Amino acid sequence: MSGIMVLAEHRHGDLRDVSHEVLSAARNLAEKTGEQVEAVLLGQGCDEMAQRLAAQAHRVIHAEHPAFRDFNYETWQQALVRLVKGREPSIVMIPHTAFGTDLGPSLAVELGVGIVSDAIGFEPGPDGLKVTRGVYGGKLNAERFISTTPALVMVRQSHFKPDQPGLEGEVVNWDPGDVGSGLRTRFISLEEVPSTGIDITKADVVVGIGRGVKEEKNIGPIREFAEHIGAVLAGSRPVIDAGWLEKERQVGSSGKTVKPRVYIALGISGAFQHVAGMTGSDTIIAVNKDPHAPIFAVAHYGIVDDLHKVVPALREKLA
Ligand SMILES: Cc1cc2nc3c(=O)[nH]c(=O)nc-3n(C[C@H](O)[C@H](O)[C@H](O)COP(=O)(O)OP(=O)(O)OC[C@H]3O[C@@H](n4cnc5c(N)ncnc54)[C@H](O)[C@@H]3O)c2cc1C
Repeated sequence: MSGIMVLAEHRHGDLRDVSHEVLSAARNLAEKTGEQVEAVLLGQGCDEMAQRLAAQAHRVIHAEHPAFRDFNYETWQQALVRLVKGREPSIVMIPHTAFGTDLGPSLAVELGVGIVSDAIGFEPGPDGLKVTRGVYGGKLNAERFISTTPALVMVRQSHFKPDQPGLEGEVVNWDPGDVGSGLRTRFISLEEVPSTGIDITKADVVVGIGRGVKEEKNIGPIREFAEHIGAVLAGSRPVIDAGWLEKERQVGSSGKTVKPRVYIALGISGAFQHVAGMTGSDTIIAVNKDPHAPIFAVAHYGIVDDLHKVVPALREKLA
């Protein structure tokens, strides 16, 4: 086969949104290369997911195996190496998520092919696949060429809009053979962070604070401002790591995805891992001292100033 292979990601018995996004990126690229898109689903008890993927791919390769019950990159790698060698796709796309970053680099080494992570654009060409990716925390984009076949790319989460379904791909059951033996790592358990009952994903207005807030004691007035406008407080990862806000308030690729009516980003630079969790907001208002902060590339309204001056002024205005 030539064609574009997309690895679907699922958790807790459901496809993750990123699977649809990567399929959408693959379909856009396939229109340029004239190839077909093949989704790969490895799991156990995944029939229903396979049917759903078939609306977004020309073919779904579906493998059921007890070794796929819990994610272990080695098991996935064993199956994918076999599948890729057998089907010879020109491009393999996997999500740039915790799941994909665990798997992608070692898969590339095992296949002996080139890989580009955090991919946000693709252009086929005579020298191979040109891939655009973010660098320097999203301040610049770099273009890389992958000349190996297949070209392995890890696609940025929340960057591509999931396509409307419209295909009726066939679902092909595939026997992955001997997988899950000779592993050096093993799955022990999936530890969920205990719930504190806060659900930032349901909020209509979210005030997100970043490292620009500088100190924990500075959060007080922002919390008050958020309450005043009926918003829920959230934060970037450094704010959560510092213990200033609960883990459930983290926005981003390793936190929650929010899509409120309004997202107010205070002192957040706009690293792609953060933007991945808030770019779907209807209106984004950013406050940052640095006019070149990447957050302004996704904001609808921007204020270049000290957040500690802007927050009281906004509060007064809204009062
Ligand atoms: C695997 C992985 C997963 C990650 N997951 C996430 C995630 O889920 N969510 C997440 O947020 N990050 C995540 N990150 C971290 C991410 O890469 C960035 O480091 C992080 O988002 C930066 O947070 P920040 O914008 O608050 O801080 P910084 O990047 O330090 O930005 C602080 C900003 O505040 C501005 N500023 C400073 N003082 C003021 C002031 N007085 N007034 C106004 N502006 C001011 C500065 O100009 C700067 O732009 C992840 C990283 C990795 C490697």
